[in-house]
Amino acid sequence: MSDVRNVIIIGSGPAGYTAALYTARASLKPLVFEGAVTAGGALMNTTEVENFPGFQDGIMGPELMDNMRAQAERFGAELVPDDAVAVDLTSEIKTVTDTAGTVHRAKAVIVTTGSQHRKLGLPNEDALSGRGVSWCATCDGFFFKDHDIAVIGGGDTAMEEATFLSRFAKSVTIVHRRDTLRASKAMQERAFADPKISFVWDSEVAEVQGDQKLSGLKLRNVKTGELSDLAVTGLFIAIGHDPRTELFKGQLELDEEGYLKVEAPSTRTNLPGVFGAGDVVDHTYRQAITAAGTGCAAALDAERFLAALA
Ligand code: FAD
Repeated sequence: MSDVRNVIIIGSGPAGYTAALYTARASLKPLVFEGAVTAGGALMNTTEVENFPGFQDGIMGPELMDNMRAQAERFGAELVPDDAVAVDLTSEIKTVTDTAGTVHRAKAVIVTTGSQHRKLGLPNEDALSGRGVSWCATCDGFFFKDHDIAVIGGGDTAMEEATFLSRFAKSVTIVHRRDTLRASKAMQERAFADPKISFVWDSEVAEVQGDQKLSGLKLRNVKTGELSDLAVTGLFIAIGHDPRTELFKGQLELDEEGYLKVEAPSTRTNLPGVFGAGDVVDHTYRQAITAAGTGCAAALDAERFLAALA
């Protein structure tokens, strides 16, 4: 059993590293569980990031995350490339267990485990991520000026992504596996009224094509099995996200979609001394800068919580 620390941070994306930077600079000596396989978070899987302020020529996602990591480490954050596999957050002293079974104890815990975008599960999908395949129109739409784009999905996010992308694209084709949309009426109407947007119903993606860059899709009609080609150079997959909250079920309050609930605008969860930040909380914005912003807020909330204990 380790000594009792001030703060443990679980997760290592922009939210986790920013929380680490702030708590380290406040001399709280945070321990950060970065994740065994995916240290650095979602931006490790992308190419250029053009919308993180301070980098006027853009920066590659992994480089941005390496910088954040090094900055947190410079001020004394202790970073471990491991998963937190069990937690008990209900008592005054919280415990977090690593993969070797070591139990770490702290007075405060910041949860920044992010959310996983749902994938189609097709070969080539990951290889072409950042090379025509994207999960975020706000992040990448600008790269697709005058492209023919497919958006996969039938919910509000898919409609929002499609109407946003139609500002840049030559055409946007929404591919949906049913013959009706799940999206709200208002979102549907906006998409139907957009002259650049068309629909392919009852269809799913059978193949993501391309070598170094996306060159097209093979679609399958789910009713007839018929295959067809869709020539696109952009593919936006908008079939949902899964917040990584499995570990906290039964302890932290989650909303109906499994996101961590906080007392906004603070980052306080239902348990004293436990804070949540970044995409594990956020349904709406899902950006590196908003994750970093709430990571900062969580660090400050934790700092104040710890000061009140003293
Ligand atoms: P994440 O970045 O998801 O990090 C969470 C980390 O915690 C992960 O590494 C995860 O493995 C780890 N973790 C989870 N559970 C545990 C555990 N039990 N123990 C230890 N570690 C754990 N945003 C922009 O602003 N601009 C862009 O250009 C942009 N491009 C994007 C491109 C892609 C392909 C993707 C997927 C997203 C992009 N985004 C972009 C969105 C942005 O990456 C996210 O909004 C941001 O990374 C969220 O940060 P986060 O810290 O909340 O979570």
